[in-house]
Amino acid sequence: MPSCKTVVSFFVPFTKKVVESNRYDKEVSYIWAKTYYECNKMINNLTGELVEYLKDFNATAATVQATHGFDEQLLKGQWSHKSAAYIAGLGELGVHSLLITEKGCAGRLGTVFLDINIEASKKQISEKSPCLYYLNGSCLECVDNCPTNALSIDDLNRALCYEKCLLADNIYTDLGPCDSCGKCSIGPCAYFE
Ligand code: SF4
Ligand code: SF4
Repeated sequence: MPSCKTVVSFFVPFTKKVVESNRYDKEVSYIWAKTYYECNKMINNLTGELVEYLKDFNATAATVQATHGFDEQLLKGQWSHKSAAYIAGLGELGVHSLLITEKGCAGRLGTVFLDINIEASKKQISEKSPCLYYLNGSCLECVDNCPTNALSIDDLNRALCYEKCLLADNIYTDLGPCDSCGKCSIGPCAYFE
């Protein structure tokens, strides 16, 4: 969108119930997978409707889908919701390479591009890292919980991780695309009430 002047970034947190549902089994819980699927769908609907709505105000807007817009070989997308959210000040990265927002890391991100200027909102997070490992060397629950060892302190094997996430599509065939795992998003930084 060459005329873009403002990038709106937002985070939809999962609830405590969703996070806790994913703590008791090796496989992703049904509640987590369903929430992942429904939340992506909701973000796509919301941003799509917003783009239409803004036309009435002579504003041009655009969006990119919440997920599945990436190259499945390279495992990289043309747009990173996470990088945008980080730059927008919505949170800080943890060892798990996820953004830890003021509501936690369990949830989904979305982006809308606007051709109008909107003043940036203030950064929401404190100067201290919300990741306990970066703060004081403790925790590492995300690394310990990773069922594939795709995650280590300083690396993420995207191929291994994606392979694990795709298994959810085979387990919960009544859902739409729900390729998720979330076992690195259930530690102390998962949600903040
Ligand atoms: S689970 Fe612990 S080590 Fe991993 S990102 Fe969260 S706070 Fe940091
Ligand atoms: S999503 Fe699952 S497989 Fe991927 S890094 Fe997190 S815990 Fe590991």
